[in-house]
Amino acid sequence: MDDQSGAAARPDTNTPTPAADLERQRLISLINTMADAVVAIDQEQRIVLSNAAALDILDSNSQLDGKLLTNVLAPKDASNNPVDVSAVVRECKTQYATRDWKLYYSDEDSVSLYVSIAAVQVGFGEGSNSGWVIVLRDITREKSLEEERDEFISVVSHELRTPIAITEGNIGNAEYVFQKSGLQSPEIGQALKEAHDQVNFLSGMINDLATLSRAERGKLQVEIESINPHEFCEVLARNYQTSAAAKNLRLNLDLDPSLELLQTSKLYLREILQNFITNAIKYTQKGSVTLAARNIANGIEFSVIDTGIGISKSDQRRIFDKFFRSEDFHTRAENGTGLGLYVTMKLTRLIHAQIRLESSPGNGSTFILSVPNLR
Ligand code: ADP
Repeated sequence: MDDQSGAAARPDTNTPTPAADLERQRLISLINTMADAVVAIDQEQRIVLSNAAALDILDSNSQLDGKLLTNVLAPKDASNNPVDVSAVVRECKTQYATRDWKLYYSDEDSVSLYVSIAAVQVGFGEGSNSGWVIVLRDITREKSLEEERDEFISVVSHELRTPIAITEGNIGNAEYVFQKSGLQSPEIGQALKEAHDQVNFLSGMINDLATLSRAERGKLQVEIESINPHEFCEVLARNYQTSAAAKNLRLNLDLDPSLELLQTSKLYLREILQNFITNAIKYTQKGSVTLAARNIANGIEFSVIDTGIGISKSDQRRIFDKFFRSEDFHTRAENGTGLGLYVTMKLTRLIHAQIRLESSPGNGSTFILSVPNLR
């Protein structure tokens, strides 16, 4: 008699067949050998299955099965506030992941966790109903390396600011004095201009790095202000008139006359739009750059439209990644770090805004930013 016929022959369907038993033993060995903690919970958030690593990470000597998840997992978030684990699980309809939770065993002893929660439809609840599978990984070491790196970037970028600002000021002065002096030396003029451009680039890069390290360390505060969008866009466009004119580009404003006041962080909104406009000018050889704004439900939608080189579909998926720069030779002809849009995305999330991109190679790009009122 093989296993299949054995299964059919058993009157008690709850008694596992040898084959099912073997399968279960295999699965248990498999999850027990995993370095990550695995915990499965039912609809009531009671643990129905856990592996050896879970006992270790959750620092429990006794079996976890049957316990409420919240009794064994009470982490804190990046701002050191208790996490409402029960609510996070309840709201997880498909998948949730975070690297920001910390579990404290005592005041001095804690681990940083990577946590992934997946909703499962069958197999864990009462009568094999739905539940969740939670994977926990100890990432204390990675986190502390990341923190050291961010701290280093933050200190270095801070220290570099002053000498760069002084250098920039002095080169600017030298250029001015040279122009006024009437000296006929195109080489000196060109050398000063190049030095000025490069020092400006360096200063932009240092700013990006400083903002980035503050964002990564959760150190950015959102200060909400009341913004007059007309005034705000006009000042922004005025600041870019010179760099657009230097490339013979038209810089247009297309503002809905009935724009309403916007409640958000002026600082971050300005930085996001500045990044879009700088890129639009940088990656456009001829035509125009337009800053547009219109009302949307509970906020304003800003667009930065250029007639430049455009972005391919495959690059569009990656331009917000850290250090990503297109391989396209038009892009490579320009200076850049690949940090601008990464920082932009971080700031966008902070102000609960959203970015859409419409672009194709050779047909320009439109970056659309929908900004909600934050109060
Ligand atoms: P950087 O400009 O310093 O390279 P960003 O993060 O600002 O870095 O942009 C990432 C990449 O996205 C750029 O290198 C470029 O390939 C592409 N990109 C961004 N904005 C535009 C644009 N307006 N037109 C074409 N390509 C763009």
